[in-house]
Amino acid sequence: MQQFIDNYDFAGKKAIVRVDFNVPLNEKMEITDDTRIRAAIPTLKKVLEKGGALIIMSHLGRPKGVTEKFSLKHILGRVQELLGVPVKFADDCQKADEQVAALKMGEVLVLENLRFYAEEEGKPRGEFATDEEKKAAKAVVKENQKEFVKKLASYADCYINDAFGTAHRAHASTALIAEYFPNDKMFGYLMEGEIKAIDRVLKTPEHPVTAIVGGAKVSSKIGIIENLFDAVDNMIIGGGMVYTFIKAQGGKIGRSLCEDDQQELALNILKKAEEKGVKVYLSREVVIADDFSNDANTKICLNSEIPDGWEGMDAAPSTLAMWEEVLMNSKTILWNGPVGVFEIPAFAKGTNRIAEILAKATENGAFTLVGGGDSVAAVTQMGFAKKVSYVSTGGGAMLESLEGKELPGIAAIRK
Ligand code: AMP
Repeated sequence: MQQFIDNYDFAGKKAIVRVDFNVPLNEKMEITDDTRIRAAIPTLKKVLEKGGALIIMSHLGRPKGVTEKFSLKHILGRVQELLGVPVKFADDCQKADEQVAALKMGEVLVLENLRFYAEEEGKPRGEFATDEEKKAAKAVVKENQKEFVKKLASYADCYINDAFGTAHRAHASTALIAEYFPNDKMFGYLMEGEIKAIDRVLKTPEHPVTAIVGGAKVSSKIGIIENLFDAVDNMIIGGGMVYTFIKAQGGKIGRSLCEDDQQELALNILKKAEEKGVKVYLSREVVIADDFSNDANTKICLNSEIPDGWEGMDAAPSTLAMWEEVLMNSKTILWNGPVGVFEIPAFAKGTNRIAEILAKATENGAFTLVGGGDSVAAVTQMGFAKKVSYVSTGGGAMLESLEGKELPGIAAIRK
C-alpha cells in the first residue's frame, strides 16, 4: 500500500521519522549548509500541526562507533529554530524508552546518531584477519540488527521515511523498520516530491522526452544511458565522455579525456539507440584548450579534429544552438551531468547555457528535472535551481533511480 502523509491522521500518534540530517559541520561544529534540515521541515511541521508527536532519527557522517564529532546534538539548535518548538534529545537511540513514554503530543525528540551502532547499516566494523572472521562478524551484526530495528519501531505508532539521500540503502531505519508498520508507513513530502519527479520522467512522461547526459566518464553513466533508452526520444550526450565515442568512431581527439577500454561499449550504445529509435546528439563543435586551466589558450573545432596537445573542455556555441532546438521542442527534460569542465570559469559557459535553456523550457511549460551530483551543483551555483521544475536532493539515490533500480527505502513503503 502506498501512503503519503496528507492521507494520514496523526492526531494522538507518535511518528518516528527518518530524515537526512547529514549536514556539513566546520571545526567549531557549526552547520555550514542546512539545506538538508530545511528539506525535512515541511514533513515534520505537518505531523505537529495534525496533532502528533515527533521522534526524529538520522545519521551524521560515517562514525565507527560513538564519536563526539558526529553527535546529532550539534544540530539541535538549528532544528529547534526551524521547527519553532523546543526539541528534546535522547543521547542513545537504543535507550530512549523513558523519554519516548514522556513525550506529549506536539513535542519533539531527536535520537542520537543511528550510525553509532553498526546495526544501523548492518555491517561489521574493524579489521578482520580472514574472510571467515568477517563473515562471522557480519552474521552477528545481522542478528543483532533485528533487536535494533525492533527497539526503534517500539517507540512509535507510525513510520515516515523522508530521507531520499539514503533511500538507496537497505539500512535498519531506511528500510527494515517499515515492516513493523504494515498500515502506518508512508513517504514524507521530500520523498514524495522525488518519487513523483522521477515517475514523471520515467513512467508517465509527456513526449517528446529528452535526456542530457554529461560528465566525465561513459563507464559511470552507462547504466543510466541504457535505462533511459526505454523512456526518451532524444539523448544529448556532452562533457568528457563524448571523446570516447568520437575516438571509437575513428576521430582525432588530441589529449581529451578518453576511456580506451570503453570504446566498444560506446559503439554499442549508439547501435542500441538506433535500434530503439532514440536520436542521439553528441556535441559536435567543441571548445578546446592547450592546458587544463582558466588561462589556457582556446579554440573551437570539430570534436573529431582536435589537434595533438589540445583537449576538449566545453560545448561550443553551434553545439549549444543544436541542442537548444531539440530541448525547446521537448515536453519533458532530464539533466544529469555537466557538459563541460564547469568548475573552471572559462569552460562553464556550455553548462551555464544548458541551465538557461532549461529555465526557458520550464517557462514554456516543459517539465524539467535536474538529478545527480554535479549538474545539481551547477544549477544551484548558477542560480537556476528555482527556475527548473525539480532539482533532486539525492545524489546516489537519484542515480540508482535513473538506472531503473528499485530503491530499498521506496520499496519498503510500497510493499
Ligand atoms: P560526473 O560526476 O560523471 O557527472 O562528472 C562531472 C565531472 O565531469 C565534472 O567534474 C566536470 O569537470 C567533468 N567534465 C565535464 N566535461 C569534461 C571534459 N570535456 N573534460 C574533462 N572533464 C570534464
